[in-house]
Amino acid sequence: MHQFSGTLKVNLSALRRNWRFMRDSFTGQHCGAVVKANAYGLGVAPVTQALYREGCRHFFVATFDEALEVKRLIPEKVDIFVLQGCYPGAEQNFIDEEIMPVISSFAMLERWIKVSAAGQRRCALKINTGMNRLGLTVPEFVAALCADSALLSRAGVELLVSHLACADEPAHPLNRVQLSRFREAVAEARLHEPSIRASLANSAGILLGEDWHFNVARPGIALYGGCCVPQLRGHLSPVASLQLPVMQIRDVRAGESIGYGGDFIAPTDMRIAVVSGGYADGIFRSFVGGLKGWFHQELLSVGRISMDSCAFDITHLAPELSPELGDLVEIIGEHCPLDDQASAAGTISYELLTRLGDRFQKVYFEE
Ligand SMILES: *Cc1c(COP(=O)(O)O)cnc(C)c1O
Repeated sequence: MHQFSGTLKVNLSALRRNWRFMRDSFTGQHCGAVVKANAYGLGVAPVTQALYREGCRHFFVATFDEALEVKRLIPEKVDIFVLQGCYPGAEQNFIDEEIMPVISSFAMLERWIKVSAAGQRRCALKINTGMNRLGLTVPEFVAALCADSALLSRAGVELLVSHLACADEPAHPLNRVQLSRFREAVAEARLHEPSIRASLANSAGILLGEDWHFNVARPGIALYGGCCVPQLRGHLSPVASLQLPVMQIRDVRAGESIGYGGDFIAPTDMRIAVVSGGYADGIFRSFVGGLKGWFHQELLSVGRISMDSCAFDITHLAPELSPELGDLVEIIGEHCPLDDQASAAGTISYELLTRLGDRFQKVYFEE
């Protein structure tokens, strides 16, 4: 019996449509997909398999364990990159499993070259162009190539990677700065390894334009329906929809309080629907001014969001439109767009999706 667990519906046709849209917007050779963090919370297995069937052959994850999971889901050899690189001692595991670390420091690079037999190594190398998270700076990289012109071939570097810090703000000056630094690194690398490929663009980076494209794209959020830049609105289809079941309908007298802290006081006699799903399920307490929901009409939550439940004001619904026990209130979906809900909670679609709890029943469907 699942009647009191919410339902997370994942539209795999929409996912594939979004991937095709990003692929068609990309002018480089390979549009990959970022499926880290359980495919942004939506389920790595169905998501990866749907993208593979659609033609995706380059997958990016954060950790080695995520890479192993992706590898087992795919019937042929594809390129799987681990964005966090290779922690000490794991080098041979990457080689045995034919998974590529995105190497992000000299120490990591040295260990990588030391451990594995030449000819078996395949990896990517991260260049820090301004995010200042992981990677070699361009001057460090250029100096290393000067000192050892065979470095890239010895390490088996097939792809240079960098990541944009402000791609969702197209006018931000850092975008151009990062582009010119990355171009310098790529040009330098190609003096030594002419066939080396390059990857700079995440979802928003693809929308910045052709200059930012290079050879391989790494879209994540856009595939899952997150419109990280306004130009994507109208082009992406919603992928996730979340519905929470009503556990109880309650009449509350004017002057009574609702929920923890007693800080919401019913201004009039009210009717409320208590639904299953709370902050333990990723329904943030920080929904400022109430969580929006939808049941025939727009609803607003009242009182604090609890760990396992929250309460919606349904006083304004006509009796024939009022929900009953077990009816589902939409929280994310057609009437409650993901991006709007995320900003109402003071966050971004990425965080809202990746925090959705594992108590929901996940339902995958094709249109
Ligand atoms: C998560 C991530 C991506 C995907 O970014 P989106 O904004 O979700 O498209 C791409 N590259 C790196 C290095 C990442 O960490």
